Amino acid sequence: MRDALSSAVFIDRDGTIIEDTDYCSHAKDVRIFPGVLEALRRLKSQGFNGLVDATYYCPDAPGQHSKCRKPAPGMVVKATQDHQIDLSRSFLIGDKEVDVECAHNAGVRAIRVRTGIQRDMTGSNADWVADDVPAAVRIILDAKS
Ligand SMILES: [Mg+2]
Repeated sequence: MRDALSSAVFIDRDGTIIEDTDYCSHAKDVRIFPGVLEALRRLKSQGFNGLVDATYYCPDAPGQHSKCRKPAPGMVVKATQDHQIDLSRSFLIGDKEVDVECAHNAGVRAIRVRTGIQRDMTGSNADWVADDVPAAVRIILDAKS
């Protein structure tokens, strides 16, 4: 049954694949970091769900009890149900420690990138730290082989 499951890479958006503009509500505010699209294509070509198979968001307001607002793992759990994902072979890339906590709460390895607002990695529990998404993808592909 394990072979029927896919490995996946869960990727945070703001500060990870696009510049964090605090609240991105218009397409004109989207600035994709250099090398991200090519890195996602590399993941896809190596058998990961990654370019972009699905998007998930949490509609709950901060401070409200929520199963999906990070660090709760609800969005990862939902994606796992939708796409038959093996979490033990999957990764999450994010720019904040809350992303790392979400990954670990879901049972996924975490890579924290330095492209977000919170660039101080002191005390981070990330499994790896990378400069950006392309560097994180190199870590994932090295770990897979
Ligand atoms: Mg972020």
